[in-house]
Amino acid sequence: MSDRLPKFIDPLILADKNAHLAGKIPLSSLSRLHELLVNNVGEVTVSLFFGKEGKTAKIEGKICAVLAVKCQRCLEPVEWPIESDIKLGIVSSLDKAGKLTGDLEPLILPEENKIALTDIIEDEILILLPDIPKHSNNCAITIPANNSALLNEYRQPAVNNPFSILAELNIQETSDGSTKK
Ligand SMILES: [Zn+2]
Repeated sequence: MSDRLPKFIDPLILADKNAHLAGKIPLSSLSRLHELLVNNVGEVTVSLFFGKEGKTAKIEGKICAVLAVKCQRCLEPVEWPIESDIKLGIVSSLDKAGKLTGDLEPLILPEENKIALTDIIEDEILILLPDIPKHSNNCAITIPANNSALLNEYRQPAVNNPFSILAELNIQETSDGSTKK
């Protein structure tokens, strides 16, 4: 079996064939995740079995990846391993989604029956990502108690321009008197 996964799939046809898709999807191709991750290095390992449960087409399988998210305490990257079972029932409408039995989650198929594989994987990963990721133990960086400049930087992560950070730090240092005698 090749590692190359199709971009678009027709889950109904694959279910008829009891197909198995396995391979890797680069994180760089999952654009909805980009703003949530520190970087897009790595891949999602995907293994999906298509089949039927009664008359319902379904997808079962597993995805796993190691994501780099930003610790909301120290703002350094945290490796965030994910491993999740996928159990999706293919339905054509919200109405039918409500009637799914068993533990299948609904996957509503667009009219043309084709869906981007990356969309399915992105949806799964978005559910798995924590709202406020943090290092599980203590964060590695320590903040020197007497260094207000570092402390300010620590509190103001949202500034993109390094020069504006510097300017802001200078203003704050003088206004709170910490650099004066
Ligand atoms: Zn941390």
